[in-house]
Amino acid sequence: MSAKIEKKVYERTLEDYREQAWGDARCNWCMNQWGWNVKSARFNEICPEFRYTRFFAYSGMGKFHIIRALLEGDFDYKDSEKLLEICYFCTSCGACEMNCLRLNEKEPLKAAEALKTRLIELGIAPLPAHKELLNSIKNYDNPWLKPRAKRMDWTKGLKIKDAAKEKCEYLFFAGCTPAYDPLIQHEIVNTVKVLQQAKVDVGILGEKEICCGSPAIRLGHREIFFDLVKRNLQTFKEFGVKKIITHCAGCFHTLKYDYPEVPGMPKIDFEVLHVSEVLDDLVTAGKIKFKKEVPMTVTWHDPCHIGRHCGIYEEPRNILKARRRGANRISRALVENSQRAH
Ligand code: SF4
Ligand code: SF4
Repeated sequence: MSAKIEKKVYERTLEDYREQAWGDARCNWCMNQWGWNVKSARFNEICPEFRYTRFFAYSGMGKFHIIRALLEGDFDYKDSEKLLEICYFCTSCGACEMNCLRLNEKEPLKAAEALKTRLIELGIAPLPAHKELLNSIKNYDNPWLKPRAKRMDWTKGLKIKDAAKEKCEYLFFAGCTPAYDPLIQHEIVNTVKVLQQAKVDVGILGEKEICCGSPAIRLGHREIFFDLVKRNLQTFKEFGVKKIITHCAGCFHTLKYDYPEVPGMPKIDFEVLHVSEVLDDLVTAGKIKFKKEVPMTVTWHDPCHIGRHCGIYEEPRNILKARRRGANRISRALVENSQRAH
């Protein structure tokens, strides 16, 4: 067991994880699901990094061993060309942390992110492609090297309130990737249309919206992240934002759970909701009714950042089930598949 670290997550240094690293139980629960939870060996392994590489250094346990060696001087930051690769191979899926926290009160993912921060502070990290991404955030407020003026392109043909000019109950935070990626722009367009049809008073910040900071903090770059947090909070305050709806799982996790972990953070006075929570409530309240059959079999894939990291599992499933009840014609496979995926 480990002593709880009495500091906000982004106040912690690598040294704060010393006790956890020394106490690593080598139990392997960061790589495997509990036997009583899985139906087949196919689903037993939970760490995508380890599953791909088959080498312990790439697991949660491996990170703790590396951190211990670095802290105690058994190993130097420059001793291995593989150190950067090992640190940045992690998908931040959180599977290791979920099991390890429950069983051993340790936080292998948060420790691994503190290691990335240390590598950045030492000038060793990040990887070249990440540097480009971080520079893009600094220069354009988005990670995709896209001009700020193009941020509103997804709203063409859509009538939506400008939250910077008129009052609205909810701010729809589009997020950089959905706003700029032509392959998924339709998702936020349709989401806004559904919200509007259900009479939700929703607006957007348009060009005033900037990156939430998720890519920066997942790479371990606290300085850029803290700057984005500060600027976003100023914007929310300036326009009186009290409720935010996100479509992107990463934005949701970051705004709701990473922001309060920033040192010196004022009390958060706005609510952050994932769109699946809002839609589930609208369905329950009878404000969304399903009338047409969609003959389609779907499998719900839980995004790590709303599932494991935030515990949102039921809301999307409730919507799928309600669709089935409402139309009473939907394929039974839809619900069965979504339950199997769970
Ligand atoms: S990281 Fe946690 S779950 Fe993995 S071996 Fe160490 S103590 Fe066990
Ligand atoms: S967060 Fe990283 S180390 Fe942990 S299970 Fe996921 S990929 Fe593996």
